[in-house]
Amino acid sequence: MKDTFKHQGMRNKLADTVAAKGIEDKKVVDAIRSIPRHLFMDSSFEDHAYQDKPFPIAAEQTISQPYTVAFQTELLDVLPGHKVLEIGTGSGYQTAVLLHLKSKVYTVERQLELFKKTNIFFKKMGYRPKKLVFGDGYKGLPEHAPFDRIIVTAGAPEVPKKLLSQLKIGGKMVIPVGEEDQVMMRITRNSETEFKRETFGNFRFVPLLEDKN
Ligand code: SAH
Repeated sequence: MKDTFKHQGMRNKLADTVAAKGIEDKKVVDAIRSIPRHLFMDSSFEDHAYQDKPFPIAAEQTISQPYTVAFQTELLDVLPGHKVLEIGTGSGYQTAVLLHLKSKVYTVERQLELFKKTNIFFKKMGYRPKKLVFGDGYKGLPEHAPFDRIIVTAGAPEVPKKLLSQLKIGGKMVIPVGEEDQVMMRITRNSETEFKRETFGNFRFVPLLEDKN
């Protein structure tokens, strides 16, 4: 599959839509304008790629709605060089947005099928996260901690304590919290023991699933 002028035209519109819905960070809007979202989806669904909607990918998972990706990314406040932990690689679209912002991305996916597929896709496209790990995001990546930023792209029934402990002091985590639907939460680590919590509206994500072994 290619990236054509037609795709670029549709992507410009999508980026304008996301900005019109309230995303102010120009670098985030620029990421939406630049990244060929249709290549992250099955080729037969190309036509759906530039609507501002979530869409099914493999293993009963979804590629998040572009507005939601932009919203979470804006809240995350990523700077070049930041070490970012992403939980829920999925299609890799959010990963690509984080790479566009020149951060160092460590991303974790628990569905083997998606992990393999996205691994091959990243190589083909030349996307280079620092690490793409098959595993349970509830545990984070203690061997690579601490992180400047942590982003969770699945709905967590509660905030995983192990992730909080892997945040740098001054670091931020953006995570949708709740069972049926979720409230978007941003947690800033002010000291070893103090965490500031802010909430930003309701969303609906696929669940963050815990591996019990
Ligand atoms: N960022 C992705 C969103 C995919 S949906 C994208 O833009 O495509 C959420 C993803 O989280 C799914 O792929 C799901 O398999 C994954 N997930 C759910 N629970 C997880 C866990 N405990 N650890 C890692 N990934 C998890």
